[in-house]
Amino acid sequence: MRIRAAVLHEPRQPIVVEEVELAPPRDDEVLVRVAAAGVCHSDVRLADGELGDGRWPIVLGHEGAGVVEAIGASVTHVAPGDHVGFCIVPACRACEECLAERVHLCIPAGENGPRGVLMDGTSRLSLPDGTMLQHALMTACFAERTVVPAAGAVPLPRELPLWQASLLGCGVVTAFGAVRNAANVQAGESAVVVGCGGVGLQVVAALRLAGADPLVAVDLDSEKLALALERGATHSVDSGSAATAARVVKLTGRGADHAFEVVGRPETMRLAWDCLRPGGTAVVVGLAPKGVEVALPAIEFLSDKGIRGSYYGSGDAAADLPRLAELALTGDLDLAGVVTAVEPLEAVNDALDRLRRGEGARTVLVLDEQLAGH
Ligand SMILES: [Zn+2]
Ligand SMILES: [Zn+2]
Repeated sequence: MRIRAAVLHEPRQPIVVEEVELAPPRDDEVLVRVAAAGVCHSDVRLADGELGDGRWPIVLGHEGAGVVEAIGASVTHVAPGDHVGFCIVPACRACEECLAERVHLCIPAGENGPRGVLMDGTSRLSLPDGTMLQHALMTACFAERTVVPAAGAVPLPRELPLWQASLLGCGVVTAFGAVRNAANVQAGESAVVVGCGGVGLQVVAALRLAGADPLVAVDLDSEKLALALERGATHSVDSGSAATAARVVKLTGRGADHAFEVVGRPETMRLAWDCLRPGGTAVVVGLAPKGVEVALPAIEFLSDKGIRGSYYGSGDAAADLPRLAELALTGDLDLAGVVTAVEPLEAVNDALDRLRRGEGARTVLVLDEQLAGH
């Protein structure tokens, strides 16, 4: 079928919204009518060619939600009409990592996602002239419809408006998982969040729910710091000065128990490290361009400080998504509040430009106004 989709033909060139061809779902796949999609900073990294070569032409979009339209022969967990959120790691549940309960590191999902193909190694997307198109992280949801691996379509409660549900599958699961699974933050521990954009604000929200105190938000932008304070940060610190780390250390006593870097730059990774108390741990959530290295004062390993990465919440996203949807329904997780723009698909380039300039938090692209419920 023909669908409208946002295509990246070449890096650092404008995204083109155009008609492309979508093949029907195979046995273990699902066709979803996309309601809404969130624009994430990793879309910028991909569009700017910072994640490596060979990743285009591609239909962008890896955070979204919609309604199931058709299912393959072996799909049983969803039916047409179900509301679903996308999961960018459709875990195979059979590989070494999945069997060890590290499903976010699923080996075939980790290999196929960056190659732009589905779990069987092929694409359902092409240009009208037959040129193969890649799927962004097996999701490709900057499009009216998409075909995803069955495990990439996670059923969600209908009560949650789809424009809000669209944010769960990347930003929210990444943020909550970093706090709960990677850092395992306990009530009363101190934490600092460096970078308060769409994902950083959700890290703040997850830390508030975990009972972190003090909870210090750090950013260059006063508007984002205000949003972080609304979300439960106890203090905010401007990151534009050489004294930033010293101020965080003072606010937290001897430095934070936990630091979260949600920017993806070596300077902010170093800043997160400098905010830690002896024995504290930094979790890097931000995605840095390929080739970037980070330097740390090695003597400080002697103070038992640690730094670790986190991918996609370091847990089982398919299990976490419905739980996060429930938190949103009970009001413990504010999805609408991090949305600073709601726009049609055609505005995708503007949304990416705002992220490049560091303006605003999340943009939601609405593919189907009625379904999205905005
Ligand atoms: Zn993302
Ligand atoms: Zn697996």
